[in-house]
Amino acid sequence: MSTAIDTKRLPEETVELLSRMGVDPANLSDGTLAAKSPISGKTIASIKEHSADDATAMIGAAQDAFKAWRRVPAPRRGELVRLLGEELRAHKDDLGLLVSIEAGKITSEGLGEVQEMIDICDFAVGLSRQLYGLTIATERPGHRMMETWHPAGVVGVISAFNFPVAVWSWNAALAFVCGDSVVWKPSEKSPLTAMAVEALFKKAQAKFGEDAPAGLLQVLQGGREIGEVLVDDPRVPVISATGSTRMGRQVGPRVAQRFGRSILELGGNNAAIVAPSADLDLALRGIAFAAMGTAGQRCTTLRRLITHESVYDALIPRLIKAYGSVKIGAPTDAGTLVGPLIDKDAYDTMQRALEEAKAAGGIVHGGERVLAEEFPDAYYVQPAIVEMPKQAGPVLEETFAPILYVVRYSSLEEAIDLQNGVAAGLSSSIFTSDLSEAEIFTSAVGSDCGIANVNIGPSGAEIGGAFGGEKETGGGREAGSDAWKAYMRRATNTINYSGALPLAQGVKFDVE
Ligand code: NAD
Repeated sequence: MSTAIDTKRLPEETVELLSRMGVDPANLSDGTLAAKSPISGKTIASIKEHSADDATAMIGAAQDAFKAWRRVPAPRRGELVRLLGEELRAHKDDLGLLVSIEAGKITSEGLGEVQEMIDICDFAVGLSRQLYGLTIATERPGHRMMETWHPAGVVGVISAFNFPVAVWSWNAALAFVCGDSVVWKPSEKSPLTAMAVEALFKKAQAKFGEDAPAGLLQVLQGGREIGEVLVDDPRVPVISATGSTRMGRQVGPRVAQRFGRSILELGGNNAAIVAPSADLDLALRGIAFAAMGTAGQRCTTLRRLITHESVYDALIPRLIKAYGSVKIGAPTDAGTLVGPLIDKDAYDTMQRALEEAKAAGGIVHGGERVLAEEFPDAYYVQPAIVEMPKQAGPVLEETFAPILYVVRYSSLEEAIDLQNGVAAGLSSSIFTSDLSEAEIFTSAVGSDCGIANVNIGPSGAEIGGAFGGEKETGGGREAGSDAWKAYMRRATNTINYSGALPLAQGVKFDVE
């Protein structure tokens, strides 16, 4: 299908897309939560916001659903996730386009996000037959000791606007096969994609049959306050929250206060090192994609470029030229590489960071607003490169916009210190042809991030690996590898088949 759409008809296009996916158009108007598209900056629907009382009732319904769902065998639970994957395949174009409309991602990235959902569903289906525990050698004669993994309960998922649907699926696909129910609080900036996913999930559930209880997925629409209700509810043993480090600092302690478990996937001030031996053509492409893709609004966006002084002059002018040639525009137009920022706040934050960088001696290339006449209420920007005299000021923070700070280095040790010298360390990479440098970078004395790459940029991730791992949180983990364990609880079971009760020597109980 062609994904080019008429940007003057965004509300109509949105209603059509949503109703094709099973959302009742009556639920898209007269609500108090305005859904906007960053393409035009205008409201495209208004939906019902949930109250604290609604949230409490929905968590109760999810708890009831959990009690039934945990009795369903895990491979059968996997069948529900397989059916969800089928619905996502059937509606990939519609949902991908809706992601572009609501989050401003270019068409290929909107579709790529839905593909990630499909991939994690496939992964989770296999996982539903592999929730293994260990059998452990016991020191007691005539006994067997083993561990069993049980579902944790209701899983609360709080997601960010920039991955409006994939983040949910990284959590929910695992949670469902693990036997949990899910209460999802999407970003208040992306409520419509959540409605679409809820409708697709219901379609899968209807095909699955009655052993999937009605309340298995609850979608809680609203802002931070409603998220706090979820975070504070002791009936929710696991909270997986994806968003800024500011949000994580609020959520983490609140969940810990009630001894809940949190999985925090937070912001990233990600860097790449370009070493003297780097293939500069490869590096240039990798850097441009990682820094400008999704208009700098990825958690793994490349934000700092640590360039060896010997290749600086060969690389940076070419990069500045590449930045100047990139096509900025409506993300659904063919050929667009950089879409809009999410809103005015994001634009203002970007401009503030650029001013601070200038004040700290930075030389700014690009960064200005474009297309303001065509889209007066939306915020499109020329991606910026800032040559900095040192790593200081705004370079130390994640600004969720396309700004790439460039600094020089002279030794690998210095480069790794710079790479590790910021708080929000999520993803990192090195461009080098020197095997020893690559190994050092990925070793214990190298990058301190949850993601460390060689000869590819820091952005993008496959679901097969455990994603994320912002260093301050000790590494939140969603998606692949053994991430599933965070959605379950472990029981160690000892079975005595000896007929005797081995007690410490000399210990006797009179039980007559
Ligand atoms: P945000 O932190 O503003 O909001 C994220 C979500 O948290 C929203 O649903 C919001 O309503 C909710 N929230 C905020 N404060 C809360 C609180 N006190 N209690 C409960 N819920 C609360 O983030 P955003 O602007 O939507 O997204 C961008 C940020 O997310 C960036 O920092 C980006 O790096 C990060 N991110 C990280 C990952 C990852 O996997 N590590 C993925 C995507 C985005």
